[in-house]
Amino acid sequence: MDSLSSHWIFLVFLACFPILILADAGFDPASVVTPINRDLYRTSADLMEEIEALVNRHPKKLSIETMESVNKGYEAQVAVVTYCRDRNEDDKSKFRILLTFGQHGRELITSELALRVLSILSEEEFLPKMDRKSMNNTLDKLIIKVVPMENLNGRKRVEAGDLCERRNGRGVDLNRNWSVDWGKKEKDYDPYEENPGSSPFSEPESQIMRKIALSFEPHLWVNVHSGMQALFMPYDHRNTTPDGASSAKMKALVNDLNYRHFQGHCMTGSGGGSVGYLAHGTATDYIYEIAKVPMAFTFEIYGDESAPVKDCFRMFNPTDQTTFKRVLNDWSAAFFTLFKFGPQLLGMANSNESVKLISMDDYLDGYLMSRRSRYGKKLEVFELGLQEIRSYFRLFLLSCVILMFMFCTRISKSKLQRPNASP
Ligand SMILES: [Zn+2]
Repeated sequence: MDSLSSHWIFLVFLACFPILILADAGFDPASVVTPINRDLYRTSADLMEEIEALVNRHPKKLSIETMESVNKGYEAQVAVVTYCRDRNEDDKSKFRILLTFGQHGRELITSELALRVLSILSEEEFLPKMDRKSMNNTLDKLIIKVVPMENLNGRKRVEAGDLCERRNGRGVDLNRNWSVDWGKKEKDYDPYEENPGSSPFSEPESQIMRKIALSFEPHLWVNVHSGMQALFMPYDHRNTTPDGASSAKMKALVNDLNYRHFQGHCMTGSGGGSVGYLAHGTATDYIYEIAKVPMAFTFEIYGDESAPVKDCFRMFNPTDQTTFKRVLNDWSAAFFTLFKFGPQLLGMANSNESVKLISMDDYLDGYLMSRRSRYGKKLEVFELGLQEIRSYFRLFLLSCVILMFMFCTRISKSKLQRPNASP
């Protein structure tokens, strides 16, 4: 064997070595687990500290209280931030909104959105193209309660490494622990995902949320989740939407948000009818059916359906800065549209501006075209790039195998020839 070919073989071996090791270790790309990106996501402690500091900087608009509850030795604390411009929270003429984030531990992005919404409400951050006069007019007439992290104990388990945990600190799914149709199990019931608890409201977190909802009596409720992109309205336990005027208003609002902010990419309709499975004992069904809140929604703000099943951080949260920023920008803008049109649709705002919801026709008539270039192209290019990398990787693996085969054949040939060549 001459020295040139031995160098060549050595190089090929070096290139293939990591692949051989991975193959030997049973490497499976589907088993890759993305860790929490700490450049983008705060820890729960840092996030709550930041929210508290924000509230303290704006005492005329914001206040915070922590509610506690215990059940059989299991304790939970839920922080609630109230936005009310003159702090006159007893003013019954104001439109009341209750937003909750982080009901499922692994959906970290939702609590980041809570902070963004509060920062805009405090006027430390602004939406692009925001008309501040119109915004102030809207916000004057609102009281908004924000629960930034409903499931702090579950979130701590995620931060300790259990990245797929969605339940609370003792394994109960807080979005199955409410009383409407509680405990009913579908054929594909998985206790790791959907354990409803020992009885309705067995969990301190749900007890606290029910207490807030019943005492505050909101006109509008949003339960913010991630895992897909959707704007859901009741029902979760049936595959239909409710009848009546308030249901029609919810539909109109959801369609407007979808076309105005998400180019029609969000799934809409009843949670139970759209998501592919019925969910029993959910918060939004209780809030609509029992607490009689006229507008009740579940928003799903992000999901990566291409993520492997075990790669939960990636499945439920944006992992790169561009997507992270886009999700927070788009959804905070959607929330401020909701703050503006929600009261108008329910006839609770004496505004000079009439509700101008975007219809499907307006959308197809040009709205779509003007918005498409924003992110669509970039995502397409990004996905094409990924596809190319995958194809190159497959080609590389194939050539390594061929080269190894040639290498082995050559060695065995030279071994066979050696005795004959020797004197
Ligand atoms: Zn969720």
